[in-house]
Amino acid sequence: MEMSAVVVRQIGSFALERVQIGEPGDHEVLIKVEVTGLCRTDLKLIRVGHRDLRLPRIPGEEVVGLVCKKGKDVAGVEVGSRVYVYPGVWCGRCSSCLRGAENLCREMRIMGFHRDGGFAEYVIAPSSSIIPVPEGLAAEQAVFAEPLSCCLNALELARVAENDRVGIWGAGPAGTLLARAARALGGRPASIDPDSRRRAIAGGIPPGCGDAFDACIVAVGSRDAYIEALGSLNPRGRLVVFSGLQPLENELPVSFNDLHYHEQTLVGAYGCSFRHGVQALDCIRSGTVAVKDMISHRMGLDRLEEALRIVEHRQGMKILLYP
Ligand SMILES: [Zn+2]
Repeated sequence: MEMSAVVVRQIGSFALERVQIGEPGDHEVLIKVEVTGLCRTDLKLIRVGHRDLRLPRIPGEEVVGLVCKKGKDVAGVEVGSRVYVYPGVWCGRCSSCLRGAENLCREMRIMGFHRDGGFAEYVIAPSSSIIPVPEGLAAEQAVFAEPLSCCLNALELARVAENDRVGIWGAGPAGTLLARAARALGGRPASIDPDSRRRAIAGGIPPGCGDAFDACIVAVGSRDAYIEALGSLNPRGRLVVFSGLQPLENELPVSFNDLHYHEQTLVGAYGCSFRHGVQALDCIRSGTVAVKDMISHRMGLDRLEEALRIVEHRQGMKILLYP
């Protein structure tokens, strides 16, 4: 049996191909993809490559679908049930796994990077990586669990507490989810974005406004944003490095004396743990974090190039892809 899938064989190009549908092995399930979210990381992965990418590869790390076949020794999941796939496969034994940070596992294998992802009609995932979608929750809302999980991880590392002022650089899909989730946690978010249209949607403020924050999260790959965020930290403030930077821009001057005298913290955030997926689905189901109004485009996989251009030029909000 064959399926349609987007395959990246070399950095900078991709094609919609007919490929063999895999057989689920022991402890694995075959999932019929209902919807896959497109994110900025996919654009980066396809156009310029990514640290964790292994080729050839079917991308797509934000997947919701229906279990259609179980391999051997799969318990607790029924054929036909709707599931969200936590994109990581982790060892469960290393020091990161043991402290609940599977995303930093020494042997981490990410769907869409190290193994094939959801830009396809079907995807195979280990049963340990799937999370049932709560009854009645639509696939196109549940698929926000992945980006929201990454935001929850960042907010956890930012130690956002009640009434904290949270500055969020970037009002794209990630920045918007960060702001909404920060508010759900009792924080007072402000979105900082040079794009007045996005700022209006996010209820944000322009850059360089001189505000100070208890937590700053940079959700835009901009060196200037990082410099501004560093200068906007309150005493005991936390700066979360949420977005990566281009290799040539990636070294910044940081005053260690400022960190010292003001007891400030710099902390990185990359991906999410399994438990963040469970939390994210709960936030979406309960409506604590609204996501539906963030969908700007629904497109077929055959329109991926057009979708990537929309992301590239920041012309949409969240794009969902349908196989
Ligand atoms: Zn591990």
